[in-house]
Amino acid sequence: MASVKKTHHWYEYLWIWSIVFFALGFYNILFAWLGMIDFILPLIFAVFGGNKWFCNHMCGRGQLFWLLGHKLKCSRKKSAPRWMVTKWFRYGFLIFFMTMFATMLFQTYLVFAGQGSLRKVIKLFWTFKIPWKWTYEGSIFPDWVAQFGYGFYGLMVTSTLIGLIVMVLFKERTWCTFCPMGTMTQGICQVQNRLKKQEVQNG
Ligand code: SF4
Repeated sequence: MASVKKTHHWYEYLWIWSIVFFALGFYNILFAWLGMIDFILPLIFAVFGGNKWFCNHMCGRGQLFWLLGHKLKCSRKKSAPRWMVTKWFRYGFLIFFMTMFATMLFQTYLVFAGQGSLRKVIKLFWTFKIPWKWTYEGSIFPDWVAQFGYGFYGLMVTSTLIGLIVMVLFKERTWCTFCPMGTMTQGICQVQNRLKKQEVQNG
């Protein structure tokens, strides 16, 4: 019997991009801006496509957790505690994450407005300040651009570390059950589906 050859798509390898992103941020903090692609693309897919295509096919971080947890067997593959997969936790974490994101934007604004100076640190777990000086020696851009980079990179590293911890302790993609981007895109898709149903009902 002839074996069926599985076709591989370029987007199945976006886990490489996730690794490259963190490596670039280790070299120059301005590269952290590239992480905005992972913030904006899922929303575009959800708003204009009404689906989670990004999560299902294009998320390098999700792929990385699967690769490490499943293929490289770094995951215990245990079910996550019940509270972790509840709606309350998912939305609570989203609110917390967005509050931290807004705080980071405010710090960027302070530098922009000349009321604060550039802090060359990244904050891990929203608490621990890690010196990250070597990644920025000035550029053609104003300091607030670098400040955003430091803040955003810290958020990306923190969320990836949390994802890796829950990957090891529980199932491979446990992070996806409460990932803020996943929660937001799911919310958008649900609203869109409801609107479509209403349209059909109203003829
Ligand atoms: S839920 Fe988050 S980490 Fe998981 S695939 Fe979607 S965007 Fe990626």
